[in-house]
Amino acid sequence: MNFLSKRAQAIAPYTAGEQPADKQYVKLNTNENPYPPSPRATEVLRAFDAGALRLYPRPDADGLRAAIARAEGVEEGNVFCGNGSDEVLALSFPAFFDEEGKPACFADLTYSFYEVFAAFFGVKTHIVPLKADFSFDLAAMQTADCAGYYLCNPNAPTGIALPIETVENFVASVGERIVIADEAYMDFYGQSAVPLTKKYKNLLVVKTFSKSYSLAGIRCGYAVGDEALIGGLFRMKDCFNSYPVDAVAQAVCTAAVEDKDYRDKTAALVKRERARLREALLSLGFTVPESGANFLFAGRVKKSGGELYRALKEEGVLVRHWEKPILRDFLRITIGTPEQNDVLLAKLKQILK
Ligand SMILES: *Cc1c(COP(=O)(O)O)cnc(C)c1O
Repeated sequence: MNFLSKRAQAIAPYTAGEQPADKQYVKLNTNENPYPPSPRATEVLRAFDAGALRLYPRPDADGLRAAIARAEGVEEGNVFCGNGSDEVLALSFPAFFDEEGKPACFADLTYSFYEVFAAFFGVKTHIVPLKADFSFDLAAMQTADCAGYYLCNPNAPTGIALPIETVENFVASVGERIVIADEAYMDFYGQSAVPLTKKYKNLLVVKTFSKSYSLAGIRCGYAVGDEALIGGLFRMKDCFNSYPVDAVAQAVCTAAVEDKDYRDKTAALVKRERARLREALLSLGFTVPESGANFLFAGRVKKSGGELYRALKEEGVLVRHWEKPILRDFLRITIGTPEQNDVLLAKLKQILK
């Protein structure tokens, strides 16, 4: 007997980066932040009253949403929170796309979860290949016959960022279609489209506490946009999960988002190392697009991405690699601490010798 639905049998789930427990790796494979969360968030966690867990959390995460709204310069009604931005992105598919309607448009090389969500929710896709320099082909995307877009900015896994003017021109030019800007890495670039959400009712910006706030383990992300779009996400959430963000996450993320200085300080450390690591990889002969994220996309050396990935793992350094055309010649390397990056560089030099 096979009890699985046809949908469950047919779908290809997203594969997250490995989180191995066999030994201590220099772990540069899942774009986690190498620095700890804000001391203020840590203190809130330490002082958290476990007795309060007897109660359900606030269903709409309103305290956290108010804190995010203050930090982003919008109103609480412009903010939606989910269990990681992955959940926010997931809910955006049924909220804004029809199974029988026009497709969702996104690049061939971008966050691979979009494709999984589209399949899961039965939304058709219109895939536009990146240009040869790995940038988005915005002209081809503009003319696609679609209901809306997923624009990962900076893009994953390439790290390439679009300046705010380019995003604004794109959002304005596609008028009636929704643009979902996935800004998981934006704090490492610093040109968020959030201010544009006041002017453009077709723009939804999605962010996360996982990367720049060093809180990947707590699972919290959010969207900012016009109240009508936020209302659409709430409708989907309330059909699926009445209490999405747990009480601990609400408290800790509230403290984290109120400590933007700390976030910016650690992001600055990451950006400094990003520049240093990129220079070092270029001098080893790697092709490395300029990155606006907390990782570098590096490859096209005499060894394939797979060979490098396996040799590095053998040496205790974990990076991300995919066996897909184009991607297979590259590694995606998370920016670590200066010490971690030094280990990576030393091992790469040894492997390439
Ligand atoms: C990490 C990441 C996310 C989601 O992260 P969560 O941990 O679910 O908030 C979303 N989009 C991109 C492009 C990412 O890299």
